[in-house]
Amino acid sequence: MAGFIQDWRIELISTYPELFHPVGDPRRGEGMPYVDDGWRDLLDRMCVRILTAVRADGGTFKFTQIKEKYGTLRVYWDGALSPDADARVEEAITLAEARSACTCDVCGEEGRLRDGAWLATRCVAHAEGLTPVERRLGFENVYLVRHFADGRHFVTYRRYDRQNDVFIDVDPATLGIEED
Ligand SMILES: [Zn+2]
Repeated sequence: MAGFIQDWRIELISTYPELFHPVGDPRRGEGMPYVDDGWRDLLDRMCVRILTAVRADGGTFKFTQIKEKYGTLRVYWDGALSPDADARVEEAITLAEARSACTCDVCGEEGRLRDGAWLATRCVAHAEGLTPVERRLGFENVYLVRHFADGRHFVTYRRYDRQNDVFIDVDPATLGIEED
């Protein structure tokens, strides 16, 4: 008979009390992650980055929701941080969300968004009959970033590099996008 298996979600919450602020039963807490096992590692990476930013800042931070929606990760938080720490936290979350979009939520191996009875990011082995959502060639893992500077809005593009868990700037010309 299998013994009691500690849920990794509860473990995550108790590893990062400064980010989850658990009170009572963590299963009922706001930040309790509602995602499958394959995303455990990417949530852990995200927590390490956020904790570093929050500790260096001395501000306040609390997860309010961690869930899967339309096949990718969504993370919400509440708190008061300096603009710099706020930006670092948002970047940590953006990296985790980008990683979720190419990581099977069952096993943690490389996956892609699949559609069918529901939307999920899955590897081939865990596709469960879902079919790949077609992406424009060359745009895999490419994200648009909006900026506002010198009184005008502009956008840049970057690609999520799963191997190194970083974003790499992409020249719009290589995507066939003409700059104005
Ligand atoms: Zn898988």
